[in-house]
Amino acid sequence: MNQPNELGTPDQYGVVGHPVEHSWSPFIHGMFAKSTAQNLVYRLFDITAENFRRDTLKLFASGVRGLNVTLPHKQAAAELVNELTPRATRAQAVNTIAFFEDTTLLGDNTDGVGLTSDLERNLQLDLADKRLLILGAGGAVRGVLGPLLEREVREVVIANRTPVKAQKIAAEFADMGKISGCAFSELRGPAYDLIINGTSASLQGEMPLLPAGIVGDTTVCYDMAYGRGQTPFTLWAKSLHAARATKGWGMLVEQAAESFYLWRGIRPNTQPALEALSHHS
Ligand code: NDP
Repeated sequence: MNQPNELGTPDQYGVVGHPVEHSWSPFIHGMFAKSTAQNLVYRLFDITAENFRRDTLKLFASGVRGLNVTLPHKQAAAELVNELTPRATRAQAVNTIAFFEDTTLLGDNTDGVGLTSDLERNLQLDLADKRLLILGAGGAVRGVLGPLLEREVREVVIANRTPVKAQKIAAEFADMGKISGCAFSELRGPAYDLIINGTSASLQGEMPLLPAGIVGDTTVCYDMAYGRGQTPFTLWAKSLHAARATKGWGMLVEQAAESFYLWRGIRPNTQPALEALSHHS
């Protein structure tokens, strides 16, 4: 654990991604730092895939003590670090890196606990015995599958634009429960209990073309993407009369709290950040 620096020069943290300017992480970590009296700054670092390894290592060499990792770098980050936590090993994707004084770069994945905390604690959903459809097969989906399958869900189907990636992930997690991968066009009813959009299509203002019959009036639809107003996914869910259509603000805050805990050894109260962001959504 890094020793908290309560006086003097603030410790440096941030998030690397491309694009990254949409991120609310500086706002959230700023709230956490204030409420826990931690002396730190948290910045955005826009780094392309091509330069990810070189520029991220430079940040740590310049004194940065921890980074969040967002799209499209989560899998590359798992290869960059020299140690992985068990949950990051399972995911083969990293959303949090901690740099320790002995020069260890530890990769963790807090996306899964972020999502399950939001679903269970904030949205009061019981995942046991539910049928789940997950759209997308990128770094974020890798992070959430382990914690979702641990809830003893009945079945997980992963559908992706590039179906072979969905099938590959399903094979990697097959020891944890009933899971399969397919193309969007192969999806069929009956309606799922929970549909999670883990594609980045919403960020591009797009929505994958999905067959009818997979949404019913008890289906909860969750877009990992967040932003002001409706996303193409929440609009789609509402047009099909889903029971609920919600965005990933809660996941964002909860995964950030877990990253903060890894870096600073203090677990911040997430309620004030959740409340503040509800006014922005
Ligand atoms: P990646 O770049 O690793 O993966 C992107 C995924 O989206 C791939 O499966 C890709 O499919 C798919 N995709 C991209 N564009 C389209 C499109 N136009 N139509 C259909 N599928 C598409 O990104 P991440 O996994 O890191 O992030 C995914 C999303 O989750 C982002 O919106 C991100 O903001 C959000 N997220 C939110 C978090 C939160 O805390 N709320 C935490 C983590 C992520 P293919 O394989 O075919 O390329």
